[in-house]
Order: sequence, then structure tokens, then C-alpha cells
Amino acid sequence: METENLQQLVEEVSLQHFDRPFNHKATFNKRLKTTGGRYHLQTHDLDFNPKVLEKAGETAFIGVIKHELCHYHLHLSGHGYQHKDKAFKQLLQKVGGLRYTPSLIEKSEQKRLLKYQCLRCGAVAKRQRRFNTERFVCAKCKGKFQLIEKIDSQ
Ligand SMILES: [Zn+2]
Ligand SMILES: [Zn+2]
Repeated sequence: METENLQQLVEEVSLQHFDRPFNHKATFNKRLKTTGGRYHLQTHDLDFNPKVLEKAGETAFIGVIKHELCHYHLHLSGHGYQHKDKAFKQLLQKVGGLRYTPSLIEKSEQKRLLKYQCLRCGAVAKRQRRFNTERFVCAKCKGKFQLIEKIDSQ
């Protein structure tokens, strides 16, 4: 998505969900790491993490836009615009904005851990890859392992 399209999208979301125009600048900021977006108190501009759109998709990205627009509109109208403020929480809920930045790690990048347990002594081994339980024996008791659990971790 280009900057002009982002600007347009933020303006649309603002009119559609807040009934108020967004009159400042919205830009992408590639330096944002885990933050989805930011509202600048001095300039009233917004910047957004392009990774949200790439990794979490458009619905999540619009959720982030709504979140930042809550800060924007509440601050400009003199209401409580911080996360802890009641006005912020209420408006965020009303427009369906995201409270937290979605995970920016793709499913395929998540490490999957497989948990194996020795059938004889109960020792647990965690592996990233599936292994042949016929050939792998427990270091402690030479017993055989059985797959007991798959864990998705980040
Ligand atoms: Zn925020
Ligand atoms: Zn064992």
C-alpha cells in the first residue's frame, strides 16, 4: 500500500466510524517494531507500522487505524485520550478498534515444538522436528518415546 492510499484509508475510516474528518497526515513508518501505530500529540499526525498490514492483514490493520483515531479524536476534542481513560476505552469499543497490536510473527515463522515423553521413565524431550520414535531412545533408560503434545510458541 502506498502512502496516498493509506491517507485515503484513514480518512475513510475516520468519516465512517467517527463521523469526523481526519485532517492531518498518515504515513508508514518502517522503524516501528512491535508498535502498530502512533499518534503524535504535537503534530496530530499518525504513523503506522506497515508490518501489521503485511503480516496480520487488512482487518487487523483497520483495527489499528481505529485505535490511533481514538487517540486523535479524543485528544483534539479535549477528552481523555490515554489508554487508561474511560472515554478512550468506550470509544475504542464502540468503533471496534484493536486494544493491542496483533502478533507480527507469521504463522509459518512460529516455531512449533513437539513434546515427546519416554514411555518407560517419563522423561520429556522437546524437539522442533518430528523424529522417528522407533529409532530414538531415551538417554536415561533406553526406553522409547511417544509424541504427547504439539506446542505453538513464538
Ligand atoms: Zn494507543
Ligand atoms: Zn526414559
